Amino acid sequence: MRILVVEDEKRLCEALVQLLKKQNYTVDFDNDGESGLDDALSGIYDVIILDVMLPKLDGISIMKEIRAAKMNTPVIMLTAKGEISDKVAGLDAGADDYLPKPFNTEELLARVRALGRRRGEVVESSALEFGGTSFDAQNLKLRHGAEEISLTRKEGELLEYLMLNKNIITSKEQIIEKLWGFDSEAEANHVEVYVSFLRKKMKRINADIGITAVRGVGYKLETI
Ligand code: CA
Repeated sequence: MRILVVEDEKRLCEALVQLLKKQNYTVDFDNDGESGLDDALSGIYDVIILDVMLPKLDGISIMKEIRAAKMNTPVIMLTAKGEISDKVAGLDAGADDYLPKPFNTEELLARVRALGRRRGEVVESSALEFGGTSFDAQNLKLRHGAEEISLTRKEGELLEYLMLNKNIITSKEQIIEKLWGFDSEAEANHVEVYVSFLRKKMKRINADIGITAVRGVGYKLETI
């Protein structure tokens, strides 16, 4: 699970990152609202922990932008002590949960687990569908009509990401970040290789969806 922490108090941010990494989460962080929004909109996070008072852009505005972009990433807002209005504004803007500062770390972890589970269930319990093609992410099966083919884990991760972003152009960089992480050595040709594997498998079951390359920009999953 990949988590983004947006918090400008550097010591608190550092502590949060360490705490989450100890639980084996992959964690990235930002210390200001603008970079926080940029990263949040990358779509690669499973949970976002978002402070309200931030330099450059506040947490409530970030929250609104995330939901305006039709992203359903679960967000926990960190609100200042006693600021009921922050809590209300955060939830109104689409936050899933809030935690007043100072908070108990166990409580934060419990809430992160709860939101992560919820997100996991959404993806796992229902097959992703696009056109007449469906992908069962849990069993890594791609189906069209009566035909079915197994995908490898990486192919499955790529297809799931493209299906969640169907009809939208996804850059190779976004795909690398989602599949291999920020610090990986993976390069654009890794993406090309997996895209070509996926295309072959789609063809084999006569899928009615295809991965279109948008020159110089990235890929788009479309019905064909
Ligand atoms: Ca702050």
